[in-house]
Amino acid sequence: SDIGSQRDRVVTEEEWLQKWEMGNIGFHKDQGHPLFQKYLDVLLNGRSGLRIFFPLCGKAVEMKWLADMGHSVVGVEVSEQALKEFFADHSLPYCEQPVPEISGAKKLQSTSGNISLYCCSIYDLSSSILGKFDGVWDRGALVAVNPRDRQRYVSLMITLMEKNSSYLLVTVSYDPNKHKGPPFYVPESEIKSLFG
Ligand code: SAH
Repeated sequence: SDIGSQRDRVVTEEEWLQKWEMGNIGFHKDQGHPLFQKYLDVLLNGRSGLRIFFPLCGKAVEMKWLADMGHSVVGVEVSEQALKEFFADHSLPYCEQPVPEISGAKKLQSTSGNISLYCCSIYDLSSSILGKFDGVWDRGALVAVNPRDRQRYVSLMITLMEKNSSYLLVTVSYDPNKHKGPPFYVPESEIKSLFG
């Protein structure tokens, strides 16, 4: 599995913000991701009242679904527009507050309290700010991370996981020499070495 042509590619935060501004968000799925339905039981494993993390969340509708099932959801996203669209799309009232530990960051929280979305880079966060999670939905997240930042991203994710947590990861399989990404191609062998 040769990812040589992608290894040095970088998508900047500015480019992500521009995608949201231009409405260039082909990655967003209004109906949610089919694999979410398929593996939801694996994520929940019969448990209720879980804390579920959505790294690089965009305006993923699965956040609303899990909150409606009684779980609490935490997401992180650099685009404030994405987060505002999330609350607007679902007609959810929310309030905004600064995050004292991170200058310039904001937390947008549903008035009902069970959806908290951080507007900042995921690399600004830590388990001392977020706590730990029982489950992670990683779709369009690891595969959107710049290849050079993968180790850092995964190390952070591991520190955010509670002992008996489940991590659902969606990747995309394709020929990395024919498409520059994102999503980037993350070979299974690399997933194994990253997560150990
Ligand atoms: N998981 C979502 C969105 C996937 S696209 C979904 O399933 O629809 C990747 C998202 O990550 C984009 O919305 C982009 O703005 C955001 N993003 C990119 N780099 C980020 C970073 N360092 N920290 C937080 N969000 C980031």
